[in-house]
Amino acid sequence: MKLLIMGRPGAGKGTQAVNIKEYYHIPHISTGDMFRAAIKNQTKLGLLAKSYMDQGTLVPDEVTIGIVEERLLEDDCKEGFLLDGFPRTIAQAEALDKFLKSNGIKLDAVLDVNVPAEILIRRMVGRRVCKNCGATFHVEFNAPKVEGICDNCGKPLIQRADDTEETAVNRLSVYDNQTAPLLEFYAKKNILKTVNGDQPLAKVFEDIKVVLGA
Ligand code: ADP
Ligand code: AMP
Repeated sequence: MKLLIMGRPGAGKGTQAVNIKEYYHIPHISTGDMFRAAIKNQTKLGLLAKSYMDQGTLVPDEVTIGIVEERLLEDDCKEGFLLDGFPRTIAQAEALDKFLKSNGIKLDAVLDVNVPAEILIRRMVGRRVCKNCGATFHVEFNAPKVEGICDNCGKPLIQRADDTEETAVNRLSVYDNQTAPLLEFYAKKNILKTVNGDQPLAKVFEDIKVVLGA
């Protein structure tokens, strides 16, 4: 299964990606996670990405497209993949299209997890992630069993540096201006599948399986 997952920041892409990845046995490729790993490892890419991420703006296309293409050429992507957080601009979508065509790869579906903007600030500000295993929780909507501790690996949970109210507002407007037009781009290709992300976590996944024909 070759999939993209789209949706506003905080819509639940990463959360659902964990389920999709396990169900279809495909790698989850999140550009946000790749940039956060680069920041943690203090690489040149990390330094560059941080300056954009801290503002809630997008890392330049040239950089982002390159790292995704490199990742998609790895062996574990041969049978399928789930791209999360990429593409985010028309230029990224066109570059991805060209790359997929020239490598004989066809997308099965583009999932759009649709959540109204109003509730997303609360989702982002309350998000907590495990620094060790990457699992995602929410202080109100998906609380860990023990406050501040990851259910999966027992390590402390942290708040992402860009999950402040101010940055979240910026990220939502960046999405509306630069990323939302991609929905039309994929709708025209007849591969866009929209699910209602404003429902309990398990129900969102049930709906994803339905639209994917599982
Ligand atoms: P994205 O990857 O789209 O930015 P996440 O998957 O990290 O979003 O989810 C953002 C926050 O919202 C997290 O704290 C997550 O636990 C919570 N969340 C995800 N899906 C739901 C849902 N269906 N209902 C309530 N909260 C959710
Ligand atoms: P995310 O983890 O998807 O919420 O992304 C966090 C941040 O990483 C974004 O606000 C951007 O600064 C950066 N980022 C992630 N994916 C991309 C992308 N495809 N293009 C540009 N910037 C990105």
